[in-house]
Amino acid sequence: MLGGMQDWPLRIMRLLDHAEREHGPREIVSLYAAGNTERTNWIGVARDARRLAKALERLGIKKGDRVATLAMNHARHLVAWYGTIGMGGVLHTINPRLFADQLIYIANHAEDRVLFYDQAFAPLVEKMKPHWKTIEHYICFDPAEGSGFEDLIAGEDGDYAWVEGDEREPAMLCYTSGTTGHPKGVLYEHRSTVLHALMEVSTDCLELSARAVGLPIVPMFHAAAWGMPFAAPLVGMKLVFSADYTPKVMCDLMRAEKVTHSAGVPTVWLAMMQYVEATGEDLADLRVVTIGGSAAPRSMIRFFMERGLRVGHAWGMTEMSPIGTIGAPPADWHEFSDEEQLDYIARQGRVPFGVELRIVDDEGAVLPRDGKASGRLQARGPWIIERYFQDESGPAVDAEGWFDTGDVAILHPDGTMQITDRAKDVIKSGGEWISSIELENAAVGCPGVAEAAAVGVYHPKWDERPILLVVKKAEADVTPDTIREHLGTCVAKWWLPDEIVFVESLPHTATGKLLKTALREQYKDYKLATAA
Ligand code: AMP
Repeated sequence: MLGGMQDWPLRIMRLLDHAEREHGPREIVSLYAAGNTERTNWIGVARDARRLAKALERLGIKKGDRVATLAMNHARHLVAWYGTIGMGGVLHTINPRLFADQLIYIANHAEDRVLFYDQAFAPLVEKMKPHWKTIEHYICFDPAEGSGFEDLIAGEDGDYAWVEGDEREPAMLCYTSGTTGHPKGVLYEHRSTVLHALMEVSTDCLELSARAVGLPIVPMFHAAAWGMPFAAPLVGMKLVFSADYTPKVMCDLMRAEKVTHSAGVPTVWLAMMQYVEATGEDLADLRVVTIGGSAAPRSMIRFFMERGLRVGHAWGMTEMSPIGTIGAPPADWHEFSDEEQLDYIARQGRVPFGVELRIVDDEGAVLPRDGKASGRLQARGPWIIERYFQDESGPAVDAEGWFDTGDVAILHPDGTMQITDRAKDVIKSGGEWISSIELENAAVGCPGVAEAAAVGVYHPKWDERPILLVVKKAEADVTPDTIREHLGTCVAKWWLPDEIVFVESLPHTATGKLLKTALREQYKDYKLATAA
């Protein structure tokens, strides 16, 4: 007989079992919206998750049923994740910042049976209730009279064995915050989630360990907080959660809890940078920051690197669990000049084992990885989507398993990937492409500019020309000319925006990205002076 290895299904609950057994006392700290800080640990989370699993069964929830959450980051939310997944349920995180019709659509489409929510979202829940057809149980996370989360689990003893099953069973459902059409559901499986977590803790990814103290600033409803609630028990790290995103509150919390690792979208880091610059605060024990969700501006990367931190610039999608690429210093890093190091990290990094990338032209022909060709970015791998949840239109991949990300990118010979745009956002001028992301990031590097958006508007000769919408920093005396002068040092001359318009604010999607569809709509009839 040939020998062999054991069959050990890659089930999510094994992550929590491991943390409970091997790293039990490691803390989970939550700063709640009311301002109170609560502490538990992996033993506490595991115990409460068992009690919750039992309580959900008592409510009649069955394997495969969807249980939703509408909540910020905190330990009770984490318990809801593991309790639901532990009893065989499918955890559905709802993004409270979605528009009302999207909120109605996704809860009905998911056929959620239970909803756990934060008190802060109670008014939203009341508004939605008449429209949500399938939710039978509404449970408030905050201490509430009679029917809250603590009451639900209080009566249970925690004597419970996790529901077992195949590693390919579903565990979690996240909807994309699609800017057109209905949001689409991405169904994460036990196996895809565990594989993603194994990759995520690695040195060239988030560099997590038992010594790390992680503060996921990215909300748990945004692509599973980028998988951190699953990676954390794998290494037994301490987790710190905050429902309050005010920079001062975050800085104080980081100092008090000795946070070493954090991750979030550029918008949050921008606010943090401005606070640190204005107050002279330092970043205490913070050592590794991960920036993703939108392109990290060079000025932001410089800010952290100058302070001795390692920046991991990550690219991913809800459809990719979410990590697709992330930057980490390569072998010859110390031979790079400061500017070369910045250039390297400003790109979106390299793939970890488990992700394959290619770029194709509009006809589908594969393009070279030569640092020049730019094309539609496609990806495949074991934590990348195959088919959207309950989507009749068929698989989301081609016959060879490639998923079209909708992004446009360049692949460099050194293995790094560079996003140049969303396919829908590129500005097509005279048959050539202008990267709106590059223009925006260059603009944000200009002193006095807080945020910028580049959109293409109609031009009779060039088809489209870019205009740049700029939000000034408070009391900055920046002018279109100073911005244009600064841009001239960063991008090709023909990329320079035809007009620079100051605006009070820019619209964002539910996950903090610039809402380009709204801007395109708003400026679709814009008359350029250069077009006259
Ligand atoms: P979501 O599924 O909401 O996280 O959105 C995924 C999309 O965000 C990707 O397809 C990209 O267009 C964009 N994105 C994520 N990370 C980055 C990044 N580092 N640079 C540029 N775009 C990014």
